[in-house]
Amino acid sequence: MIKKELTPVHLSNVTIDGPFWAQRIKINRERTIPRLYKIFEEKGQINSLKPGWEPSTVLEPHHFWYGSVYQWIEAASYSITTHPDAQFESLIDGLVKLIVKRQQPDGYMPSYYKDVQVEKRLRMHLQSIRGGLSGGLFEAAVAYFQATSKRTLLDISCRHADYSDTVFGGEPGKKRGYPEHEGTEMSLIKLHQATGEKRYANLAKFFIDERGQLPHYFDREAIEQGEDPTHFWAGTYEYNQSHKPVREQNEVVGHAVRAMYLYSGMADVAAEFGDEELRAACDRLWNDLTSTKMYITGGIGPTRYNEGFTKDYDLPNETAYAETCAAIGLVFWAHRMLQFECDGRYADVMERALYNGVISGVSLDGEKFFYQNPLTSLGGVQRKQWFECPCCPPNIARLIASLGNYVYSQSKTDAIVHLYVGGTASLRVAGQTVGLRIDTRYPWDGKVVVTVKPETPASFGLKLRIPAWCGEFSLKVNGKETESIKPQCGYIRIEREWRADDCVELTLSMPIELVRAHPNVREDLGCVAIQRGPLVYCLEQVDNNVPPYLVVPPEEVKLANRVPLNRIVLPQDAKLEARFEPDLLDGVVMICGDAVHDLDSDDQLYRLAKEQRKCFKITAIPYFAWNNRKSGEMRVWIRSDA
Ligand SMILES: [Zn+2]
Repeated sequence: MIKKELTPVHLSNVTIDGPFWAQRIKINRERTIPRLYKIFEEKGQINSLKPGWEPSTVLEPHHFWYGSVYQWIEAASYSITTHPDAQFESLIDGLVKLIVKRQQPDGYMPSYYKDVQVEKRLRMHLQSIRGGLSGGLFEAAVAYFQATSKRTLLDISCRHADYSDTVFGGEPGKKRGYPEHEGTEMSLIKLHQATGEKRYANLAKFFIDERGQLPHYFDREAIEQGEDPTHFWAGTYEYNQSHKPVREQNEVVGHAVRAMYLYSGMADVAAEFGDEELRAACDRLWNDLTSTKMYITGGIGPTRYNEGFTKDYDLPNETAYAETCAAIGLVFWAHRMLQFECDGRYADVMERALYNGVISGVSLDGEKFFYQNPLTSLGGVQRKQWFECPCCPPNIARLIASLGNYVYSQSKTDAIVHLYVGGTASLRVAGQTVGLRIDTRYPWDGKVVVTVKPETPASFGLKLRIPAWCGEFSLKVNGKETESIKPQCGYIRIEREWRADDCVELTLSMPIELVRAHPNVREDLGCVAIQRGPLVYCLEQVDNNVPPYLVVPPEEVKLANRVPLNRIVLPQDAKLEARFEPDLLDGVVMICGDAVHDLDSDDQLYRLAKEQRKCFKITAIPYFAWNNRKSGEMRVWIRSDA
């Protein structure tokens, strides 16, 4: 039987005070979370939870409305775990009072503002045990319980899960249904872990195992409802990964957020039940995703048509859908895979998504959001305050508020650092509590100082991740250069008798790298991306209108000075330099250097192939920080001479 090798260190045992993430967590707490609540008040989400509420216009069922309120509760709960806040707590208590009144005596939670007819109820229930609803409710309940020990929301969740358990399952008389939109599976495991109730884990396992079995549940359901089963609303069952049993799946298909939530649930069930076959399926899907279907930003799901996956290497830049929630889902999945096995290939992807395709989803002021995260923009793409389908804003709020969960893991013999985030943690290793303190300016530079604080001197391993992008590193223990330690699966392990305030200094070299995509990625042929450390860079028009060392207010830049970003060519041997700019975009390392650009063509559509180019200074900024100033073009993949 497989066992998870590692246990993540919970948020409540982690503080974050390093410059990069402390700032984002502060903005999330002070701006994003309050702002989202205000929007819920304005848009009606809060009122719609009140008894007798009627919408002024005919509205879609409010799955996403309630789902986003639950995610908000989860985000605010994580926030009060690390930063107690009486106002957040009273807002959550107010919501819980409304939610508790909505629950029916049998535990059913209406997913609509009014309860629906009995015959539709089952279907609504099936739809509602989706990521946005039952799953959201369970995760919010566990987060709030862990933050405050208040049980009301947890009790609502248990009654709701108990009700689901009476309706669905393999036993005679139960429906063999499973969620249309995955997410409930992983949250049932969380509910099981918080309450010790094994039935919730069993129900999660049933949902995972039943998915895609024949006769297909959605076919049977349609027939029962007098509908044509070939008219499934999304066209194909690949859309929600129910086209075949999950253990037989080798290829990542369909809606990207659904896929990530399913695979996260599969990893949870595999760990809970020691299910090697299920874990092997996760690994096959992981390899397929990360070798053929992931953007360099960790964004996934290239097309808007199914909000999801297409063919291998089909990674268009301008039309990239790359929903913020999908990159967040990838972080969830990567984190779960990493606990099975301390392997840098999972942590590298988790970090890539986190520092690029996830946090690009929110503006630096914390109040505007991207739903889609393209890698090229011709200028029309802007973050917005809100979306019709409001999944991404509260989802990113809950991830940032819970960042502490992703930094460390512990095992009997090792303290493990996955992400270099400045702050402290308290781990259980070698039978005692071990404190760790990290001081670093990562991702701006690669120097990381780890101070180890065991209660009493003890022998154990300290594992530090050496990211795949890092070709060279140096290591000092208590000021002494150590003999070279070779990374194993992306981590070095230092075993010794640790004493209080032993100090490890790791320096990861962080050169500017030009990266090429696999040649099958047609869109990126002849192009390079700039990467430094975990950050992917982009060119933004505002920095590249005129030679950047000339200070001209953007308003005064004449059109004639404008160089469309597609005309810029970055030579392979371009001399690029990195410089920290404290006043740019809340403080970023920008990258400048010499490039060339194609000259105008005197309005000729075609001309002889002889190159006509002019020198040009480029400035690149981290991708996550784009669209925080003047709107304009943006480009990650830059043309390059072979
Ligand atoms: Zn979303």
